[in-house]
Amino acid sequence: MAEIPRAYPGGASPPSESGGMHADALRILLKGIAVVAALTHVAFLSLFHWAGVDALALVNVGSVLCYVWTFWLAHQGRIGLCWAVTALEVVAHAILAVCVIGLASGFHFYILLVIPVAVITNFRSLAIKVMLVSILTMVYLGMDMLLLRRPPMVALPTTVIDGLHYFNVLGTVLILIFLAAYYHYLITKAEANLRAMATTDPLTQLINRRAVIEAIREEEHRVQRANTQMSFVLCDLDHFKLVNDTYGHDAGDEVLKAVSRVLSDGVREVDHLARWGGEEFLLVLPGAGTQEAELVAERLRQRIEALRVKVGHQELHISMTFGVSARHPGETSENSISRADQALYEGKHAGRNRVVLGSLAPTTALQG
Ligand code: GH3
Ligand code: MG
Ligand code: MG
Repeated sequence: MAEIPRAYPGGASPPSESGGMHADALRILLKGIAVVAALTHVAFLSLFHWAGVDALALVNVGSVLCYVWTFWLAHQGRIGLCWAVTALEVVAHAILAVCVIGLASGFHFYILLVIPVAVITNFRSLAIKVMLVSILTMVYLGMDMLLLRRPPMVALPTTVIDGLHYFNVLGTVLILIFLAAYYHYLITKAEANLRAMATTDPLTQLINRRAVIEAIREEEHRVQRANTQMSFVLCDLDHFKLVNDTYGHDAGDEVLKAVSRVLSDGVREVDHLARWGGEEFLLVLPGAGTQEAELVAERLRQRIEALRVKVGHQELHISMTFGVSARHPGETSENSISRADQALYEGKHAGRNRVVLGSLAPTTALQG
């Protein structure tokens, strides 16, 4: 039956175009930019005051206040406005600085940094990104062409201009490295999030069928190398349809969650417990033979039998039937699981709430 996605594993948020993890990460990025930029502008303020360019020193006071504002905007979650103010400050300040003290100061490099930020920002429309990137490129090129050979309005001592130039080159490189690292972090986090969603059952938080098949493939190699056994326990809730029909689907979900917890608590770290189907679970026991697997299954059966699930004012009693099989040497895991399935089927017919061992003779392989 189709599973009902209720929650995402590990407390992760569902992916969305504008919200979720991306928005949070962007908020942190903008706050970081605000702090670093405010401190840098305090340094520039002192430098310009010392160099006697009080007009630029005054502009830097405005910039510091601007970054205090953007920090507050990011804190409030007003990402759009915060991003716009930050970008405008960077571009306007860079234009002003190179117009006054010349292109050699290197303040225009900061305009280039707005380009990657514009690309990774989660604007809904691609057209806005293309437009912003084009404007920034044109502004940069325009200033370069206009100011390259024009003497500055205020001629600062060469040592100051050289110092500013290399400071700005270094600053630009460091910010570029930071942006690349930040983007890498975003991708890694998104990947982990997607992987968790693809391999975890959202209701029970157990691994799903796809993930357990992957785990079985890995275990096959491991047990072959170590020359040990591997067993499978397939278990299914008894008369579960009746629970849904009598108490409702939500009560059924509560039962599935409670059963998953009991099963997880009853297995070892090295075992793999998965939601195999609707109310069916598969337990993979690496290194375990028939006897050990049978003991595990019986222990789990007793724990499920003793479980009481609270639904409203009532306490539900439930039971499960277990089919057990140990993988024969040379047998495929699919075949072994198929024998556990056959044993489970026999258990249901024999009256349920029991553990049945799979036949020793391999049956026809059931792929899937
Ligand atoms: P048996 O003892 O023979 O296994 O009987 P059963 O009623 O447990 O088996 P049946 O296959 O007739 O019914 C299984 C039910 O499990 C039907 C389906 O609605 C329910 N189910 C499957 N997945 C979910 C789920 O995620 N949530 C809930 N609430 N019910 C589910
Ligand atoms: Mg059932
Ligand atoms: Mg079933």
